[in-house]
Amino acid sequence: MLYEMSHRVLLVEDDEGIAVPLVRTLGREGYTVEHLDHGVPAVDRVGVGDIDLLILDLGLPDIDGLEVCRRVRAGGSDCGILILTARGGELDRVVGLDVGADDYMAKPFGLAELLARTRALLRRRPAAPSGDEAGPEAEPGLRIDVQSRRVWSRGREVPLTSKEFDVLALLCEERGTVVTRERLMDEVWDTNWYGSTKTLDVTVGRLRQKLEEAGSPGAVVTVRGVGFRLEDDPVDA
Ligand code: CA
Repeated sequence: MLYEMSHRVLLVEDDEGIAVPLVRTLGREGYTVEHLDHGVPAVDRVGVGDIDLLILDLGLPDIDGLEVCRRVRAGGSDCGILILTARGGELDRVVGLDVGADDYMAKPFGLAELLARTRALLRRRPAAPSGDEAGPEAEPGLRIDVQSRRVWSRGREVPLTSKEFDVLALLCEERGTVVTRERLMDEVWDTNWYGSTKTLDVTVGRLRQKLEEAGSPGAVVTVRGVGFRLEDDPVDA
């Protein structure tokens, strides 16, 4: 698949906790992302005519997301519309699609699933020609450069803290096998470390989230009571 750099996505979401990571993730995928937290300005923005995909929360502070959807379609826009909602009922789904939405996702959802739906909706739409075939899709894999202590996922750098990098590097060295919690604590943290091993869990949690947000093919798997394992086939630089 081509890296459709020129697709423009408008996210309408009033919950910052959802909007911030979404904007970041969509941006990393190469989309041009705009974010609004009210419905009325979103209708106006779509009216300009250059939005390819509208990702729309239903519960907004001014007008309901379904009303946004209705107005956008009434205004003649044929942009893709993906509805995000905490209302998981079948009724909402039917109503949402009835007012002109193309797809629907119930919260909470995974970023990977959101990106898959986004790609599917944009695939049907002609991207303005960018001629760029060297996007992240063209360079799959997790790449770790131990010397420079840098990590790339699908061609994009993943910013890691020093400890996150150390954990990942050790897991990568032992990829496919379990690295015990004790060994991680010994090698990544000082042997004189007497703190709680919760630090390890927090670090692994953040590392896992960063890799997931970067669409990394390498996943950190928890082996309960034992340790952690890196799955898939990361490639050493
Ligand atoms: Ca909301």
